[in-house]
Amino acid sequence: MLKPTYMNEFFSNYQLYQKFELSNDYKKDALDYATSLHFKDITFDYHCLEEGVTKTFVTKIDENEMSIFGSLRGDIIPQNNLKNGMLDYAFKCIGYCQSCKKNQVYFLLHISTFPTNEERKIFVEKVGVSPQMKILPKQEVTKFFDRESNKWYYKGINAISDNYGIGSLAYFRRIIEKELIHIIEEIKKLPDAHSLEIQSLLDEHKQQPTVSTIYEKIFQHLPNSLKSLGDNPIKLLYNQTSEGLHSMTEDKAMEKARIILQLLDFVIIKINEERSNIQSLKEAIKFLKE
Ligand SMILES: [Zn+2]
Repeated sequence: MLKPTYMNEFFSNYQLYQKFELSNDYKKDALDYATSLHFKDITFDYHCLEEGVTKTFVTKIDENEMSIFGSLRGDIIPQNNLKNGMLDYAFKCIGYCQSCKKNQVYFLLHISTFPTNEERKIFVEKVGVSPQMKILPKQEVTKFFDRESNKWYYKGINAISDNYGIGSLAYFRRIIEKELIHIIEEIKKLPDAHSLEIQSLLDEHKQQPTVSTIYEKIFQHLPNSLKSLGDNPIKLLYNQTSEGLHSMTEDKAMEKARIILQLLDFVIIKINEERSNIQSLKEAIKFLKE
């Protein structure tokens, strides 16, 4: 079944053609996603153009589709929504601002099925958005960067919105090349990080930056929240800088640019969270001492 808060992320933040996994068990869940009806009344945060701020929106489905699918049996998938026997269809979905009741955003959504080994997964992606959506830069991140890096961060984000994969990737790679050591230095200061070990990795790196293993070795010294991906986010970021841009297709560059943006946001937001945890702990201790 749909989990509205889980879908919130999709409607609010996912860009065009970025696939969101609805289910990893086709047999069990196909009926849940068999028609557009299942995408109504989902709330999500979105930028309201009338009010100029983020508000709560709610989805509605085309009246026509409502009357067609509303009268069908709930245990059968409509033939029109199948291709080669699997779910594959598109539909229009409208988001209404709950605050001003004026602003609307139109999504054209595509439901698809994809095989992975024996399992089949169900995905939804936006294939059209009107008015065109903007990715909003994260404030925690812009506070972390200096003016130059922020300029690249904004340009990288704008290039994603405008569908320029290679352009966007070029900006994000510049950020990584400049900021990755800065990020590691900030991680070193977190209470849950192994600061002595990280310092010695930084010293080694300073002496021989070209053969540095710091991105690899830092993982075991990260605080737990930065290990929560199960993968090494620092190394993943570093790896994105190695491949030549010229040999890359626009699609692949776009995918990489999105991954970098998500990872950068993740790492910097986690650093901020760890910092504010210390702050509240310090305040608690101060309170005890008074
Ligand atoms: Zn509004």
